[in-house]
Amino acid sequence: MEKPMITKLSVISDAAAEDCNYVICMPYTPGDKPMMVGNLFGKCSKCDQDIQFRPHIPKKPPRICLACIPEVAKNHPEGIHGTVTAQVLKEVKERMES
Ligand SMILES: [Zn+2]
Repeated sequence: MEKPMITKLSVISDAAAEDCNYVICMPYTPGDKPMMVGNLFGKCSKCDQDIQFRPHIPKKPPRICLACIPEVAKNHPEGIHGTVTAQVLKEVKERMES
């Protein structure tokens, strides 16, 4: 079996999230309904794909789209340490329950 790209996942504070290397965002097709009400929009910093993201994501790290994760993972053969904030976990849980 292929080794997973993300080998560790931690919940971190909003302040710690500002020090992450990247923020991973969902792709977006302009004109489509966003995944969540209040999402903001931009471009992937690696491939220029249109992306959508929550207004509370970290501001400093470059935003990348899901499709660019393998590109980033190539530079980290030991695996990527993924992180989420408590706010993101809360919203994912609410979305799954609705
Ligand atoms: Zn991309």
